[in-house]
Amino acid sequence: MMKLCAIRSGSRGNAVLACTSRTRILIDCGISGRLAETGLRQAGVDPESLDAVLITHEHRDHIAGVGILSRRYHLPVYANEKTWAAMEQSLGKIAPENRRSFVHTDSFSLGDMDITPFSISHDAADPVGYTLLSGGKKMAVATDIGILEEELFRSLKGSDAVLLESNHDKNMLEMGSYPWPLKQRIRGSQGHLSNDDAGKAAEFLVKMGTRRIMLGHLSPENNYPRLAFQTVMNILQNAGIMPGRDMELFVAPGDSLSPVFEI
Ligand SMILES: [Zn+2]
Ligand SMILES: [Zn+2]
Repeated sequence: MMKLCAIRSGSRGNAVLACTSRTRILIDCGISGRLAETGLRQAGVDPESLDAVLITHEHRDHIAGVGILSRRYHLPVYANEKTWAAMEQSLGKIAPENRRSFVHTDSFSLGDMDITPFSISHDAADPVGYTLLSGGKKMAVATDIGILEEELFRSLKGSDAVLLESNHDKNMLEMGSYPWPLKQRIRGSQGHLSNDDAGKAAEFLVKMGTRRIMLGHLSPENNYPRLAFQTVMNILQNAGIMPGRDMELFVAPGDSLSPVFEI
């Protein structure tokens, strides 16, 4: 059995807990050490028992607490070399034995989890998402993605549960107060997925067998949880898929723990 819980998910900080009975990992830690510790305890996990932190990319909302956690709990940090190069200075000192790297999209194992990174289109050095396999079950974390691409769908296919980015409502972004270059960045092919994009991706995933989708990485300025949920729900319903009956659809709130997916 695997569990997935977003301790935090959103533009203000991301930390996603994935565990089996034997292995506990965090994907990113873009929140303070203290917030991460409190959140982990709320999720029933002693921070001491973490096995590793996996990094998707070097943006601050994904790495702010990584150095602190690694030093405090002697925690190995996994990232690819380009991401290491881009984030190393911001992390502070990491013990050499905790500086772990992987190559491209090669799989590696942590305890009873097989982890496969996949490339995503985002404005960072070498950003990735992750799929996690254990006991025949598959989960995926797919946020900070500019565009829905073939490779993304190939990687996510067959997932039982997915944390899927639903960053912004296109109209809210258009009408909102962000300066034009930032708007262009967010909606560009190396930016973030909109609610409509998340709906399209969710439809594909459910048709391929995914039964649990958590919408995440919402922008507090350009989205809100009910709007993200409703937009994706409408797209699914138009495709004949009924959330609640055919699958579970949740939204990770930006400022508290998400529901827990158990698969
Ligand atoms: Zn990012
Ligand atoms: Zn982000």
